[in-house]
Amino acid sequence: MLGRLNTDVKEVTIIGAGYAGLLSAYRLLNLGYAVTIHEKSGRAGGLISTRQTDHGPAEAAAHSIRSSSEILRLFDDLKLDYVAAKTKKKFILRDGKLKGNPLTLWEMFTAGSYAAFKKSDGIYPSLADWAKAHIGEGALDNAITPLAHGIYAAEPEELDQQLAFPRMSIPMGQTLVDKVFKDKTQPKKSPGKSFVMAPAKGMGALINALTQAVQNHPNGRVIFNSAIETLPDVSNLIVTVPAPAAGKLIGSNILSNIKYAPMITATVFVKTEDLNKLEGIGFLNARGEDKRILGVLFNSSTFDHRARENYASLSVMLGGTSNPHILQKADDEIKVVIKEELNRVLNFTGTELETVITRWPNAIPLYSPHLRETLENLEKGWCSQEGRMLFGNYTGEVSIRGMCQTSLALGRE
Ligand SMILES: Cc1cc2nc3c(=O)[nH]c(=O)nc-3n(C[C@H](O)[C@H](O)[C@H](O)COP(=O)(O)OP(=O)(O)OC[C@H]3O[C@@H](n4cnc5c(N)ncnc54)[C@H](O)[C@@H]3O)c2cc1C
Repeated sequence: MLGRLNTDVKEVTIIGAGYAGLLSAYRLLNLGYAVTIHEKSGRAGGLISTRQTDHGPAEAAAHSIRSSSEILRLFDDLKLDYVAAKTKKKFILRDGKLKGNPLTLWEMFTAGSYAAFKKSDGIYPSLADWAKAHIGEGALDNAITPLAHGIYAAEPEELDQQLAFPRMSIPMGQTLVDKVFKDKTQPKKSPGKSFVMAPAKGMGALINALTQAVQNHPNGRVIFNSAIETLPDVSNLIVTVPAPAAGKLIGSNILSNIKYAPMITATVFVKTEDLNKLEGIGFLNARGEDKRILGVLFNSSTFDHRARENYASLSVMLGGTSNPHILQKADDEIKVVIKEELNRVLNFTGTELETVITRWPNAIPLYSPHLRETLENLEKGWCSQEGRMLFGNYTGEVSIRGMCQTSLALGRE
């Protein structure tokens, strides 16, 4: 979140009713502000929506949330039911096989010795450089690359380590092992065990609950089909639209030029008898696997109520920065790619009952060194004016949990 509000004026205008806009409104209403949200489309939620099909829910983008005390409090306040993941198992696809631990003995030995002995240079040009220095190339290709694919749909070489994974930063002169031991002795920011969860009825339920909370509040308003093209002259403004649209609004080329990874999400419903028994949350592809696929989520083995009895639901994530052209392919071609991958990894032999495909040309902002510089410039520029804020998945936190935490500072400056 960039900038700060003019707290002397208890009125705020928000542009965009995605998760960032709704959450901001919700926080501010609870602090006594009057809030109006303008949303371009006829619905709230932006990237987040759940379509109820005859076979079960299909998510358009986000599927789950990593819990924190703040997320649990938000669900509690909204009286929103959630389901916890039935499993913790996650896999990496390496050499065509699903592996709980993707590293060979030699790679584990190398990672351990680098972690114990290599002292940090402080700042690394990229996540890949950090990984090469502190856990070695094997762990970079088979553990860090899948993580980068899973969160950012990007390659570790493109990501700024400090911005994308700040908790991995190692103070200058210390080893990774020093840092891990030190972290263990610090009090936890979010006490309690973290787990994977989702609203019981799908991610759209979180958006519906937030929208209702804003609309039902006497000082809250959401105006749909209200595309803002010029900035309103108000004391407090929070722009929560994606970076290209935000750049246009505030007249900032550097903001318009923030790069995004493109992605396709495809939710596939199949008969359970047509593939290997699903176990775990899903898998992410290691470097060297089929580049068209980033990973596959096993929705029905993760959460209850994601498919009818004897059916399975999977979500295949395709694209990313190294395979943007897949978005140009027709649905039928995408279905062929998905079928090949499910056959190769899970022995899928049948016919899909339904496939729901969603394309996101601007899915996830690229957390690159360029984004870090851009955010620093915006902080010194447009956001240095009181009452002018930018908030969205490009302002420092991409996840629902991270944005929930950040939004707590709103209106308390
Ligand atoms: C494929 C995918 C999977 C993901 N999976 C997960 C996950 O499992 N867990 C997780 O924690 N996170 C996940 N994320 C990330 C998370 O979903 C997003 O970061 C978050 O939803 C972004 O919300 P936002 O409000 O910043 O942006 P958006 O959702 O893009 O909302 C912006 C809103 O602004 C509106 N708007 C645009 N222009 C204007 C205008 N001129 N005037 C008025 N309104 C305008 C849009 O219509 C939209 O409603 C995923 C993201 C993607 C793409």
